[in-house]
Amino acid sequence: MITEPLDLAVVGAGPCGISVGIAARQLGLRCLLFDKGAVTQAMIEHPTYTTYFSGPEKLELGGVPFTTAGDKPSRREALRYYRKVVGFFGISVRQYEEVVEVHGHHPDFLVRTRTLHGESRQYRARNVVIATGYYHTPRRLEVPGGELPKVQHYFKEPFFYFDQDLVVVGGGNSATDAALTCWREGARVTLVHLLDDLDKGVKPWVRPDIDHRIAEGSIPALWRHRVAEVRPRQVVVEELGTGVLRTLDNDWVLAMTGYVPDTPFLTALGVQVDPHTGIPTHDPGTM
Ligand SMILES: Cc1cc2nc3c(=O)[nH]c(=O)nc-3n(C[C@H](O)[C@H](O)[C@H](O)COP(=O)(O)OP(=O)(O)OC[C@H]3O[C@@H](n4cnc5c(N)ncnc54)[C@H](O)[C@@H]3O)c2cc1C
Repeated sequence: MITEPLDLAVVGAGPCGISVGIAARQLGLRCLLFDKGAVTQAMIEHPTYTTYFSGPEKLELGGVPFTTAGDKPSRREALRYYRKVVGFFGISVRQYEEVVEVHGHHPDFLVRTRTLHGESRQYRARNVVIATGYYHTPRRLEVPGGELPKVQHYFKEPFFYFDQDLVVVGGGNSATDAALTCWREGARVTLVHLLDDLDKGVKPWVRPDIDHRIAEGSIPALWRHRVAEVRPRQVVVEELGTGVLRTLDNDWVLAMTGYVPDTPFLTALGVQVDPHTGIPTHDPGTM
């Protein structure tokens, strides 16, 4: 138990948490960051060969220049950069220490944590920042069989799917990257998407590639379809509007259906969250 209160406890050591840590450091505040994993744990879990769509100048923190070999940062370059930044500013991070509860009110919060080894700790803090991102709470397929282990919400490596029948669900960057990378490594990929086209935000340099693969039939796309059922060796898809069902041979489902903020964590702290938008109550003047 730390008896002297922190000025600031920051939950999450992703880019946003680190950014808060830099500002606190520059103001001379007693600040501690907590992460249930390593620094930038969520980005570590991004696909191994990710190239971010933001240029390096958009990802810079604290004015520390981020130079990259190409126009866009690779995941590896970004992970290395954020570690340099944490070291450069001397930000204190308790890695592998999950915040399990926060009680109290400004200026007297009690922050309870649990370490990787199961040890419970608690800290007093005048202020708490929640910077937990959303990557750890996937939007699950709420269909029969959606809980089977072959249904995965995280794409890491394409090599698992060689010579396998793979359904990729979704039409955004994660889905297109997964579909293309797995197809290149020998998976038989079918893309299933609710809409009749890919999302507008698909990276512009990826768009011609995926468009060509779909047009030539290398990656068949089932537009206006949803996964209706997952079976051990098959997937049943339904065409929206007509209700026509099709059964596909299937080994794996990569459900690239997005992630949602951990609202139960926020509401347990007493923060009100709009049930429709997921936006927490906040001061628009300072947000
Ligand atoms: C493949 C992919 C590519 C992306 N490309 C871009 C891009 O090009 N540009 C862009 O702006 N965004 C991109 N994003 C989104 C990007 O991940 C976020 O913008 C960024 O990571 C958000 O930072 P954050 O600090 O808010 O959250 P995160 O990076 O998610 O960090 C949250 C941290 O909180 C920790 N945490 C969570 N709960 C607790 C707890 N209870 N106790 C302690 N620690 C906890 C987690 O371990 C994690 O380290 C991409 C996302 C994906 C999946």
